[in-house]
Formats: sequence, C-alpha cells, structure tokens
Amino acid sequence: MTNEDTLHWLERIADVLRENAAYLTQLDSAIGDADHGVNMDRGFQAVRAKFPAMASMDSATQLKTVGTTLVSTVGGASGPLYGTAFLRASAAVANKQNLTAADVVALLDAFLNGIIARGKAHTGEKTMVDALTPALIAAKQALNEGLSLAELTARASSAAEEGMKATIPLLATKGRASYLGERSIGHQDPGSTSSWLILRSLAEVCANEK
Ligand code: ADP
Ligand code: MG
Repeated sequence: MTNEDTLHWLERIADVLRENAAYLTQLDSAIGDADHGVNMDRGFQAVRAKFPAMASMDSATQLKTVGTTLVSTVGGASGPLYGTAFLRASAAVANKQNLTAADVVALLDAFLNGIIARGKAHTGEKTMVDALTPALIAAKQALNEGLSLAELTARASSAAEEGMKATIPLLATKGRASYLGERSIGHQDPGSTSSWLILRSLAEVCANEK
C-alpha cells in the first residue's frame, strides 16, 4: 500500500461517511443524541480540505493529519476516539514507504488500541470496539495464513460487519447510549457502524490494488 493508496482510502472514507451521514445520525437518534453522522461528516470534510496537501506526504503523515484534524473538528465522543485511533495508526507505520500486509495489521492493531486507550471500553459494551476487535482478529489470522492484502482487508471488513450487527442485542455500558440502560437493547451501535464503513473503504481500496 503506497501513500497514494492510503490517500485513496481516506478519500473513500470521506465519500462514504458523507453518503451515510443520515443513516449514522438515524442510528444515533435511537440510542444517542442524533449527531454521529453529522460529527463524522464534519470531521472528514475538514480532512477533505487537506487532501491536496496530503498527496506529497507519506502514509504516516497522512494518518497523523487525519488524527489531528478529527480531534480539533469533531465534538462528541467519536472525535477524540477516532482522532487517537488515526494518531496511533500513524505511529505504527512511521517512515514506511510501502505498507505490507503485516504493516496494515500493525496499523489496525494500533487503531483499535488507540480507541481502547482513549475510551476504556471492552468488547460487549456496544461500541466501536465491537466491530474493530473481530476485524483485527480476522486480519491477524489472514496474515498468518499468508493471504494477500486484498483478502486480508476483505476478511477484516466482513468481521467488522458481523461485529456491528452483533451490537444490536447488546446492552450499552459505555458512552451516551449507556444512559438508556435496557432501552439501548435492540438497536445497532452507530460507532460500530462507522468503524465498519472505515474498514469496508480500506477493503475496497485494497481490492483495486495491483
Ligand atoms: P456522542 O456520543 O458524544 O454524541 P458520537 O455520537 O459521535 O458521540 O459517537 C457515538 C459512538 O461513540 C457510539 O455509538 C460508540 O460506538 C462510540 N463510543 C462512545 N463511547 C465510547 C467508548 N468509551 N469507547 C469506544 N467507543 C465509544
Ligand atoms: Mg451522538
């Protein structure tokens, strides 16, 4: 994965979050304050303004730019959470010119662990962690099996989608949705949904690689 591919991934995220802003906000209206789509779209439109300048940056610097932009433009829990995720992901691939499958797994590992470090959520609490954890497990397994980056990211995306769907019956115990208690049951977590969209975008870009 070159810096050009990383930029394509980030561009794809910005497009997909724009297309899904109403959907994410609708999910957040059921168990939150109806702003997740607005938050994510605001953040990635601010990132979009920096794409021209990002073309000459290496992947790590691009990811760092996303992290700092999200932290400074997104209010709500998701700004600092995804901001930290992208900053940690950046550090995991520092100075790399061409990201291998192992580098992408390290990136995803750091991404998830940034969210955990910031939000202190465990799996089963109905958050982003519930999509990203199975995705990382699937990615690590694909790496051990020697699969291509395209296959690895496709499996991570599918695992994230399953993890996202599995948040529906969960009782929220972290974030705003936890204020609802039992009434949070039966709704899909918005943050796990944006996490899946981010990984699906990665799989789409890696499928077109080479
Ligand atoms: P807010 O809850 O401040 O309105 P958003 O609506 O943008 O922020 O984001 C809500 C999402 O953030 C939730 O759906 C959940 O996935 C995620 N989230 C909230 N708290 C945490 C946490 N402590 N750890 C991980 N994810 C969290
Ligand atoms: Mg919200």
